[in-house]
Amino acid sequence: MALVNEHFLKLPGSYLFSDIAKKVNTFKVTHPKQDIIRLGIGDVTQPLVPACIDAMHKAVNEMEQKNTFRGYGPEQGYDFLIEAIIKNDYAARGVQLSNSEVFISDGAKSDTGNIGDILRHDNSVGVTDPIYPVYIDSNVMCGRAGVLEDGRWSNVVYIPCTSENYFIPQIPEKRIDILYLCYPNNPTGTTLSKQELKKWVDYALANDTLILFDAAYEAYIQDPEIPHSIYEIKGAKKCAIEFRSFSKTAGFTGIRCGYTVVPKELTAATLTGERIPLNQLWNRRQSTKFNGTSYITQRAAEAIYTPEGKEQIKKMIGYYMNNARIMKEGLDSTGLKVYGGENAPYLWVKTPKGISSWRFFEQMLYEAHVVGTPGVGFGPSGEGYIRLTAFGEHADCIEAMKRIKTWLR
Ligand SMILES: *Cc1c(COP(=O)(O)O)cnc(C)c1O
Repeated sequence: MALVNEHFLKLPGSYLFSDIAKKVNTFKVTHPKQDIIRLGIGDVTQPLVPACIDAMHKAVNEMEQKNTFRGYGPEQGYDFLIEAIIKNDYAARGVQLSNSEVFISDGAKSDTGNIGDILRHDNSVGVTDPIYPVYIDSNVMCGRAGVLEDGRWSNVVYIPCTSENYFIPQIPEKRIDILYLCYPNNPTGTTLSKQELKKWVDYALANDTLILFDAAYEAYIQDPEIPHSIYEIKGAKKCAIEFRSFSKTAGFTGIRCGYTVVPKELTAATLTGERIPLNQLWNRRQSTKFNGTSYITQRAAEAIYTPEGKEQIKKMIGYYMNNARIMKEGLDSTGLKVYGGENAPYLWVKTPKGISSWRFFEQMLYEAHVVGTPGVGFGPSGEGYIRLTAFGEHADCIEAMKRIKTWLR
């Protein structure tokens, strides 16, 4: 008899975005002529930049010739991309890494979801709340999250981030073995200053906590004071793994490429207290379960770091951040309380008069014909908020703000 992994059965029935799709479909059936603007799902809308497309064409041509054809590549990624990453994303910010500390992957969702493979099932887990659902769900699947009680997992420490604490997580009383941090944050669009991030690095060093730092939105940081990498904080190499993605940086959501940094000096303990380098374990995990990101994709990612690539990417990010600015101004003018949107492509909107996330979602759908994402879908502290993304078409963002203003007048 084959037995299933029953931890999967603990996961709540349906996924946030399928609930949203159902509600939108119901609206469409009853209002077939009404067009709607979707500012809900966090996918990009702008095509790949020419530098990436050219690099991919070139790589495809190489695949046609016997002497330049590539089969399996290194599971950890090609050195040409790893070196471009180290030089541009780290050395340029004063962080030195060696090639074997960077692992190229097919994206940050896979890596943040898979990293639990190298960690014991009974570590306690901490998350800022609200949060990207992958962190918790992937822990549920291996039994690490415990059981669900009143919308909270028993072995997860929720660190609330709300307008009351300016979205700055406070050190919890309960011990945490593994802590997920995502900055700039999805869904709140807020950031952490160097000083605030240092607080967590110091906590991790003092408490032997492993920080899993998701920097998928690092490219959206506009303020020069905000750290792009956790390794900008002294001591972080001893306590943190960093995840990056080209999805939001360069529109790679469909191409699939990201990377994970596991520093050589980062260790975790065995039950007997022996220290084991996590780099070694992640390398083994990847070599066994992953066969590398495609050569063509890695060439496309490398092109992001060329002078033309950098210029083109900057423009694309500018396009989305201009959307964010227009949306923030538009929403501010309605009297709604809006957070984020300055160093991240997300706006986190407080619902008026304390109405629930889902109620506000439905009202905005039926009365303004704009789709957002209910904040409560990202965790209990997301209740009373709604997320809007700046990844839409510029004209749609303008039209959406017009509709929301008219609706709330
Ligand atoms: C979009 C996103 C990612 C990126 O995932 P990919 O698998 O690289 O596309 C990672 N983390 C967060 C928080 C995200 O919102």
